[in-house]
Amino acid sequence: MRMRLQHALLETGVAAGVLLEIEDGRITSARVDGQSRTFNGDPSPEHVRDPRLAGETGTTPGLTLPGFANCHSHAFHRALRGRTQQERGSFWTWREQMYAVAADLTPDTYFELARDTYAEMRATGITAVGEFHYLHHQPDGTPYDDPNEMGKALLAAADDAGIRIRLLDTCYLAAGFGRPPEGVQVRYSDGDAHAWAERVAAFDDPRVGAAIHSVRAVPRDQLPVVVEAARGLPLHVHVSEQVAENEACLAATGLTPTQLLAEAGALGAGTTAVHATHLTDDDIRLLGESRTNVCFCPTTERDLADGIGPARRLHDAGATLTLGSDSHAVIDMVEEMRAVEMHERLVTQQRGHWSALELLAAATYDGHRSLGFDDAGRIAPGQRADLVTIDLESIRTRGAGASAETAVFAATAADVLPPRAAR
Ligand SMILES: [Zn+2]
Repeated sequence: MRMRLQHALLETGVAAGVLLEIEDGRITSARVDGQSRTFNGDPSPEHVRDPRLAGETGTTPGLTLPGFANCHSHAFHRALRGRTQQERGSFWTWREQMYAVAADLTPDTYFELARDTYAEMRATGITAVGEFHYLHHQPDGTPYDDPNEMGKALLAAADDAGIRIRLLDTCYLAAGFGRPPEGVQVRYSDGDAHAWAERVAAFDDPRVGAAIHSVRAVPRDQLPVVVEAARGLPLHVHVSEQVAENEACLAATGLTPTQLLAEAGALGAGTTAVHATHLTDDDIRLLGESRTNVCFCPTTERDLADGIGPARRLHDAGATLTLGSDSHAVIDMVEEMRAVEMHERLVTQQRGHWSALELLAAATYDGHRSLGFDDAGRIAPGQRADLVTIDLESIRTRGAGASAETAVFAATAADVLPPRAAR
């Protein structure tokens, strides 16, 4: 299979006139094509813009990027969109509304909700998702006949929507430090970390990864059990999204959440710290020196009034940035990329903390890698042909140029073109 791309982001940057050879869903060759250069290189703008002409020559118009990796998703939170914006409150009042949705879901309704959420992701250029899944059991806490029925509903939803998934099966055992699960949390808990590990092992699907919900939800003595069971799998964990979590952790253990995870051996290049919002200097050092990934979810973090995390400082310390749409208040990876830079501008009153290429790496290759998909996220030989094309002639992008900066700072999810058959 052969694809001609008007513009594409290669490892060397944005190039015009790119010819891809694809076999069995993998790129076997990616090169700048002399023949299509005559079409794309100079020609009159009308020539390039005419979609009929582009169609006749078999060239995909626009700027083609590696597909986006959405590294932090709670599919069922999509049900809250537009419904949680009327009252004052905080993360914790929002959580009550979220728990009300969690209380009612069945495997069937979870499947339907996730299928529609993943379809929205797919339509906006997301080709891989990390689903942080903790809604395991029946409303009274009893396991389903198949204890992995809810997780399997998510895998089926991803298949239905045509999106690659890493199901981050989440250990969630406590309401807080020294507090058993409360209310709907009985649906999340397996009792202890060994029982969680046994259930995950029984899953027996290569798409399953692991997660620690947070240091408030997994007791200190259980953390190493999860870390050991997750060896070789991507391991994700919510870290310091809220100041109250930090305070409770310090009071109970004398350590910050990051220090507690370091003590348990949970940090490293296979681990992703989600949010990483309220960190000390020592936390930043620990995450950076261990080469831990950090997953920022800026549209959710601002929706929930979480705060703004130190993205650039983490990067400079050695951590790798990835991105997620988390609660799906919006699903727009372009906005997630852009927001990282914009939030830093508001905090520092300075522009230009992140280049467009760095943000694209976070949304593509680095994100895939944090989900355990090392062979996706670049347009290069050997990589999976998961692609997304940005319309360069929309009302927002017209005249902005075929550049990484246009993709990150001018486009939106609405500029993602529908997938086009390769020729
Ligand atoms: Zn989350």
